[in-house]
Amino acid sequence: MKKDYEPDVDIYAWSTFVPEETGIEVQKILKSKWINTGEQEKLFRKKVREKFNIPYCVATNNGTAALRTSLAALGVGPGDEVVSTPYTFIATNTSILEQGATPVFADIQYDTLNIDPESIPDKITDRTKAIMCVHYGGNPCDMDEIRKIGRDYDLPIIEDSAHAMGSKYKGKYIGSTGDIICFSFQVVKIITCGDGGIVATTNEEYYNKLKKYVWYGVDREERDSRSIDPLPDQIDVLGFKYNMNDITATIGLVGLEHIDEAFQRRKEIGERYRKELANCTKIKLLDYSSDRTPNYQIFPVHVENRLEFAKHIQEHSIEARVNNRRNDRYSIFGGKQDLPVTERVDKDVILIPIHADLTDAQVEKIIKTVWEYDKKKL
Ligand SMILES: *Cc1c(COP(=O)(O)O)cnc(C)c1O
Repeated sequence: MKKDYEPDVDIYAWSTFVPEETGIEVQKILKSKWINTGEQEKLFRKKVREKFNIPYCVATNNGTAALRTSLAALGVGPGDEVVSTPYTFIATNTSILEQGATPVFADIQYDTLNIDPESIPDKITDRTKAIMCVHYGGNPCDMDEIRKIGRDYDLPIIEDSAHAMGSKYKGKYIGSTGDIICFSFQVVKIITCGDGGIVATTNEEYYNKLKKYVWYGVDREERDSRSIDPLPDQIDVLGFKYNMNDITATIGLVGLEHIDEAFQRRKEIGERYRKELANCTKIKLLDYSSDRTPNYQIFPVHVENRLEFAKHIQEHSIEARVNNRRNDRYSIFGGKQDLPVTERVDKDVILIPIHADLTDAQVEKIIKTVWEYDKKKL
């Protein structure tokens, strides 16, 4: 029987990737009586660093917290501006507001849905403290161009990589290069902790700050745990309570053991869609540049008459999801701005389901259903 929160479809837009033995592993940690941030969290960070060639990282209790921690560590505060993308999940930009700063929206590229580097310089003012980009759907942004702007204007770059764990830019994993790179382990991401996040950096100075912002301004690993008063003599940074505990880390560790299976399945399906839907005329695929390897976190496409398309696939029991709306439409971000490409994208992008739980028969059905729409007289 369907639970009341399940949509009335057979093929879901998302799935949650939780390997079989997760429960057993979590139970071991519960029995150990140490469930706070400890050895498991440390091991999780170590494995993430090894897997994705990340020099330094801190773990957080969610991806939004990872973003806010990054902004705080970069000194972004009230009155400051961050040039960002309007086409993303709202967390990218609410994290900027949480720091009392303002997201200033650049426009995006129609073919990738990523921030358009050419649109960034015009948005930079003397209040700008950082540039935020999102590797939308796991397809990496034009990082060479964005980093050049960062160097020219002396601005650090935060990569919201909530979609992009395991994606590569010019042969290198997202997270292994760049300033600050944030990952999420929310329930529909490639692997999940229930909720969790990672802030990766290649800069030791940033790392030392990030550690403090994750836990009340204190580097937990520097505490003298044998002391009757383990806190340092002085706390000079107002940090958050964003640390990842050992229960969360354990769920993530099991996911990480199986992450290649998740990548492989998504890759198979994504490449099949790219091949078999390439010649549609009402559906236009995104452009994945040959120097990038997407992880297929989601599969957004442009579609003619989106509402009709959504109705059509739902009639075939396939869940239709728009995923994101342009963020500037929400009044918390100051209201709609003049962003022509964002305007088009906001009307014509929709997701084709992709996740590790889809069977070959379901993938077949999705492709067939999309083609039926393509041939339909509207
Ligand atoms: C999921 C997501 C986040 C937020 O991550 P949480 O772990 O849910 O806080 C941020 N940005 C993007 C693009 C996301 O998809």
